[in-house]
Amino acid sequence: MTSHKQFILSLEGVSKSFDGFKAINDLNFYMDEGELRVIIGPNGAGKSTMLDIITGRTRPDKGKVEFGANTDLTELNEYEINRLGIGRKFQTPSVYIDHTVFENILLSLQGSRSVWSTIFSRVTASQRERIHEVLKTIGLTDRATWKAGALSHGQKQWLEIGMLLAQNPKLLLVDEPAAGMTDEETAKTGELLMSLAGKHSIIVIEHDMVFVRQIARTVSVLHQGSLLCEGTVDQVQSDERVIEVYLGRKKKAQ
Ligand code: ADP
Ligand code: MG
Repeated sequence: MTSHKQFILSLEGVSKSFDGFKAINDLNFYMDEGELRVIIGPNGAGKSTMLDIITGRTRPDKGKVEFGANTDLTELNEYEINRLGIGRKFQTPSVYIDHTVFENILLSLQGSRSVWSTIFSRVTASQRERIHEVLKTIGLTDRATWKAGALSHGQKQWLEIGMLLAQNPKLLLVDEPAAGMTDEETAKTGELLMSLAGKHSIIVIEHDMVFVRQIARTVSVLHQGSLLCEGTVDQVQSDERVIEVYLGRKKKAQ
């Protein structure tokens, strides 16, 4: 074994049961800084629960969850974990539809979920600059003054990613970003996520294999709460265990 530089995230021997059902079962997972990692797996594999554990929403029954060199995430609550620089995007976009795209990002930048009334008088030049930088990254510069509610589904998803980026997270967790998107929006989302890798470490959970193929360098396959296999898209797609897990499910569905 060669010595390894510090992982940004490592899970070791993590388990979590719900009423005796092992949603996460002795899970080991390691990720390098700056990596864009894709996690796939059948429904119920434990993917979202894994994110819940990383973000402190769910506390594991056992195991280690470490962020960087020596931060034990299992000791911290959701708010503290978010403050460390771990941002999560849920499946459904939760933007403020009655406020403009600009305001949505400003709100996130200020880290406050209230005090709307005074928001505009408080925008500093550096905040404005940062917001425009984020808008450019997510491709919504020309939508800055639009109400978020007027955006397409895909644009809302990008805005929400922008709201996370405003907080400059070290680790970004994105659950099924391509769900409900057009092919064109999906491809753009892939480009966006790839452009963020390196600057941020990113975990993407995704079902759409065309999308996975577009963005993935390393894919981790989760099954019954454990890591089934890991590798390139080609490696995991030709892995007998992966084929069996997916085909097995298809047979049942028929
Ligand atoms: P995935 O995201 O891979 O589809 P989940 O992590 O959502 O899978 O769920 C894994 C399993 O754990 C499922 O069987 C689900 O019903 C169960 N589960 C997840 N969260 C809870 C919870 N809070 N309470 C009870 N069961 C849960
Ligand atoms: Mg899920």
